Amino acid sequence: MRETCEFRVVEEFAPQLFESTEGKRLGDSVRKVEIATDDPRFSAVGRLQLETRSKTDRSFFYGWNIRRRYSKTELDNAVLFLLNVTSVFEPAGEECGTKYDDSTACPRCGAGAMQATSLFLPESRIPKTKEISKTIGGEIVVSQRVKELFLRHDVTGAALLPLCPNSSSSAESNAWFQLGVLEANAEVIAPTRVGIDPFDDDVKGECRCPLGDLVGLNLLSEVTITSGSRGEADIFCTRQFVGVRRGLLRPERIILISPKVWRVLVSEKIKGVEIEVAHIA
Ligand SMILES: [Zn+2]
Repeated sequence: MRETCEFRVVEEFAPQLFESTEGKRLGDSVRKVEIATDDPRFSAVGRLQLETRSKTDRSFFYGWNIRRRYSKTELDNAVLFLLNVTSVFEPAGEECGTKYDDSTACPRCGAGAMQATSLFLPESRIPKTKEISKTIGGEIVVSQRVKELFLRHDVTGAALLPLCPNSSSSAESNAWFQLGVLEANAEVIAPTRVGIDPFDDDVKGECRCPLGDLVGLNLLSEVTITSGSRGEADIFCTRQFVGVRRGLLRPERIILISPKVWRVLVSEKIKGVEIEVAHIA
């Protein structure tokens, strides 16, 4: 596995670590730079982040995104995959009439509120070129073709729920469905890392729930779950949540899929998602 991290580095500070030709300038003030996490400069990015913050009260980098690329052998031998829905759009269902029952959420961190109605979303806002997408509220939308593929391949653990395009009507879309994941028992364990950014594991626990359901703000490593919590389903999710409850944002469970589902997604060239290898301890 080759792991890289893409940073959005503040252009003014970039020359402290990068050549002028390195990366790609995004406007005048930000540069996108991707480096391997085993590059010695990776840890230097973390050091410069701390130094820049203490000296200037600004950041060396803002956005970051870790990518993991695998060999064919690694993919063929994997027993489990993480499903990352990378196509994210607005509005959230909540802005379009979808109701949540916040009384069912964790009283400390707000994770886990049950969706109390169908998903209401205007079809015009769903990305047409992706077959799996999610809203900023974490609601996952799949195309009719994905629904058919899941049925044809007997994918277990998925609920394909109605999506209602118009908040004033219970009429259901024929083209789009909400993906529900039926089981949420997978237990995340070490060496999974969850924290604030690649250099900050949140040792103070500011973004974790003391009740143990919300394990942090961002996933920083591949995921490992206990073998006893694997279950039988082809698609399932973790008991724990990652993220934050703020405004329209809701903590999300990590979605895991069997090699069978991965093969369907790859062979059918389903757009809007990326996978990573996940582990069973
Ligand atoms: Zn909680």
